[in-house]
Amino acid sequence: MEVFTSIKGLRNFLDQQLSQQKTIGLIPTMGALHEGHISLVDASIKQNDITVASIFVNPTQFNNPEDLLKYPRTLEADCAMLEQAGCTAVFAPSVEEMYPEKSSLVINFGPLESVMEGASRPGHFNGVGIVVSKLFHIVSPHRAYFGQKDLQQVSIIKRLVADLAFNLELIVCPTIRETDGLAMSSRNRRLNDAERAIAPHIYRILEEAKSSLEAGKDVKQVIATATHAFNIIPEFKLDYFEVADVKTLQPISAIGTAGTNAICVAAFLGPVRLIDNVVF
Ligand code: AMP
Repeated sequence: MEVFTSIKGLRNFLDQQLSQQKTIGLIPTMGALHEGHISLVDASIKQNDITVASIFVNPTQFNNPEDLLKYPRTLEADCAMLEQAGCTAVFAPSVEEMYPEKSSLVINFGPLESVMEGASRPGHFNGVGIVVSKLFHIVSPHRAYFGQKDLQQVSIIKRLVADLAFNLELIVCPTIRETDGLAMSSRNRRLNDAERAIAPHIYRILEEAKSSLEAGKDVKQVIATATHAFNIIPEFKLDYFEVADVKTLQPISAIGTAGTNAICVAAFLGPVRLIDNVVF
């Protein structure tokens, strides 16, 4: 497995591969890898000749300086996992390599970013949009892999690909969970033992809400019940709990046909903010 820190080095390598008609799969990540990330690598290896994983903790998508500072950075262990998984190349640039100058470009995703993560983390999706566009230009992948775990990010990137005519296929992979239901996340390693023990309640409450909605309960009532379920566990500070249309991400007052509904949640456990969702 080749590890590149410069855009030029990676580009030279990929140009050679492209001259041999190889197809390229890209998995953008911020590192601190876990099985969720590796499931994207596995999917790419099945569909492409070359799999490139990027590891870059992108400062422009963090609106909370402490979150950026404390974000786990484990490059050596990440590379070992990627090599073991059969990844072809890693792109792990410095901040200076990605942003030699401060960019003043602004991408506004409109209603898609006015809710949930976009509302709670101003500027987050502008940062995501710019870094993902940059990675798409640098790597020119045939396919790019993203997790359903970050549902709003998936919608944003679908928009980006359509609006800017990126010539690639987006592949969305299911959320990988721990055996107790907790969605795998790099931020999970910042939880202390007590917080980690409580964290699976997020998925439990999501699943209960989903069952209630499928049984015909009123959306407002289900949100109130779920909010209460978080509030009675003092370690949680609920940020949002939304029932939304999976495409537009706008709140809905009644659920639609199967596959068009999403429940999305963000909650703090101590200083760590976790997100999760179910689509049904
Ligand atoms: P991150 O490193 O958190 O930016 O995530 C990189 C990619 O991995 C994103 O497309 C995420 O949606 C995806 N991802 C993160 N956690 C999971 C998970 N538990 N299951 C599936 N995909 C995930």
